[in-house]
Amino acid sequence: MQYISTRGQAPDLDFGDVLLTGLARDGGLYVPSDWPQLSHDDLRGLAGLPYSEAAARILQPFMDGIGGDELLEMTRAAYTSFADPGVVPLRQLSDGHWLMELFHGPTLAFKDVAMQLLGRLFDRELSRQQRRVTIVGATSGDTGSAAIEACKDRDAIDIFILYPHGRVTEVQRRQMTTVLSDNVHNIAIEGTFDDCQALVKAAFNDLAFRDEISMSAVNSINWARVVAQVVYYITTAVALGAPDRKVSFAVPTGNFGCVFAGYAAARMGLPMDKLIVSTNRNDILYRFFQTGSYRMDQVVATQSPSMDIQVASNFERLLFDLADRDGGTVRRQMAELAEQGGFEVPPAALQQAHRIFRSHRVDEAATTATIGDVYRDNGIIIDPHTAVGLRAALDLVPDGPVITLATAHPAKFPDAVEKACGIRPPLPAHLTDLYEREERYATLPNDLATLQDHIRGLRRN
Ligand SMILES: *Cc1c(COP(=O)(O)O)cnc(C)c1O
Repeated sequence: MQYISTRGQAPDLDFGDVLLTGLARDGGLYVPSDWPQLSHDDLRGLAGLPYSEAAARILQPFMDGIGGDELLEMTRAAYTSFADPGVVPLRQLSDGHWLMELFHGPTLAFKDVAMQLLGRLFDRELSRQQRRVTIVGATSGDTGSAAIEACKDRDAIDIFILYPHGRVTEVQRRQMTTVLSDNVHNIAIEGTFDDCQALVKAAFNDLAFRDEISMSAVNSINWARVVAQVVYYITTAVALGAPDRKVSFAVPTGNFGCVFAGYAAARMGLPMDKLIVSTNRNDILYRFFQTGSYRMDQVVATQSPSMDIQVASNFERLLFDLADRDGGTVRRQMAELAEQGGFEVPPAALQQAHRIFRSHRVDEAATTATIGDVYRDNGIIIDPHTAVGLRAALDLVPDGPVITLATAHPAKFPDAVEKACGIRPPLPAHLTDLYEREERYATLPNDLATLQDHIRGLRRN
């Protein structure tokens, strides 16, 4: 399998190099040159397999160079760290509605599902190539802790995580800043998540700096992150009767990584009815799916901070397909976005998107009400991100079963949850002393040169 850039001007790479490279050198994102196909029999053959075995089977065609047994060993190691034996268990809420619980990993959000595997893939590839890397990542709250957990104490990796100062919850911040390993560096940026993400992209696009520090990415601009998430769409659909029954998914969305994995599953042959992109008030994607116009707006802080994003990096991967994989079109769109704050796609491209995608926007009051309703009706406590997804599933009523992705454990967002249902959800046992642990982080202005100096000063080799 070769990987190509969405902007058409970077070299094609194999999986190992895509993993270490992150962002393509032309500023684009890597995507597979074609989509591996799963026949209906292949899909039926996944029924009843342990999650790690299904994962190895689904991921194998994307990862040439890694033997089947070796991959299975890695998926097993990655997913034994999950608190539920099913890894991503389904819970039925009502007729036709299910939650897919993606938060049983060590840092309590769905980011662990990909990151636990990614840490192991990095280790393998770095020792094979005898290289070291400096990972620089931006987080809106959950990627950071999941990446730190996956990379801490690994010899060949230094990791720097940028988060927006004062805009992540205390639990989210402490899950990052209380990891005191030598190779872990947290940076509070005086700005928004979009500022953090723009700084990381700018650092990547400074090719001299990028080479100097051997820079790599664990944000969902890294293809390996996205592909690891394809697995749970397929396994849960199969558990509910795919390929003989079409299911829909409702996906709380920020950077478009998780929902793009759902799109990839559909492109690989998983029968899917609707894929619902659910946003909070930061609704650039919702507006796009309504009108075909992708236009930046101000970021506002909400109860679902991991989705407080305006520029959704992974959306570029969908734009590339909607442009019939023409890198020149994507380059023009991205230039317009940077220079004029937005662009439009042709009506035919929007129509193509509507074959599978739907979108919904959920405001703060509806988010709170949904948490309260689910607690009252089902005795289940959901987090605000999950509530945004579920509200969309309930409001848009697709035909047939719909699976809402429960992306975070409610204990990560105790204030919002308590306000909505009166219960303060406790942290699981391995995190009960989180509030007593020592923290370490630096605070930096939103400035590329300052960030670069900071990284130069702290990385180990
Ligand atoms: C990251 C995150 C999201 C958004 O996922 P994207 O892949 O960025 O769209 C939703 N919910 C939670 C809890 C998250 O951590």
